[in-house]
Amino acid sequence: MKNKKQITRLLQVPFRGFRSIISLFYPQCCCVCDTKLIEGEQHICLNCLLKMPQTNYHLQPENGAADRFKGKIPYERVTSFLYYNKKGVSQMIVKAIKYKGNTALGQHTGFLMSQQIQQSSPFFDSIDLLIPIPLHRKKQKKRGFNQAEEIIKGIRKATGIPFDNNLIIRKKQTQTQTKKGRYARWLNTIDVFTLNDEKDFNYKHILIVDDVLTTGATIEACAQAILTSHPDVKISVLTLAVTE
Ligand SMILES: [Zn+2]
Repeated sequence: MKNKKQITRLLQVPFRGFRSIISLFYPQCCCVCDTKLIEGEQHICLNCLLKMPQTNYHLQPENGAADRFKGKIPYERVTSFLYYNKKGVSQMIVKAIKYKGNTALGQHTGFLMSQQIQQSSPFFDSIDLLIPIPLHRKKQKKRGFNQAEEIIKGIRKATGIPFDNNLIIRKKQTQTQTKKGRYARWLNTIDVFTLNDEKDFNYKHILIVDDVLTTGATIEACAQAILTSHPDVKISVLTLAVTE
């Protein structure tokens, strides 16, 4: 019979080695091009990372994302990390997060994006809370997660800024917006969000986060829900991608 020490040693399978064995049978593949990932790569291969269509909007206070909120809400800073190109890298990433449930990829891209923004700009300065665009509770239950919240977990990891996924509540379940006209989209978002009045509110600068920025109507409605009762709070916006 083996002694206790030997048994303990047998049970201590080296983690790296164990992972390598697992990856022999279940190799992790790039979520974009499906090639096998090599050591050091996570979710996205280096080749696809280099192909990511970055906007660099965080380096320009006036940019194609901020334009969508001009004259609608008073905003402090707006940026989107990638151009949302159909059938391109950014669409593959967004689809893998949202429709394939790759929540770890959401957190990973949120982290990568924030690290890059933080290294080259003061975008996150003075922001004291991150909030995701909430899903209606029925939709979240069906999907099992909120993609914006997964991205936020990565932002929090990179910046240390806390998040609250329950400060804003989605009252109405809106229909899909992709095929609606601008006016119809706006009508569709009126009165969708409300501030959770059970929560203490002592924030000065809130960053609203979503996966893709299209017309901006949803984010605008979310910001209005905050500004109605707290007109002095600063609002900034960050999305993973922006449509062109
Ligand atoms: Zn790839």
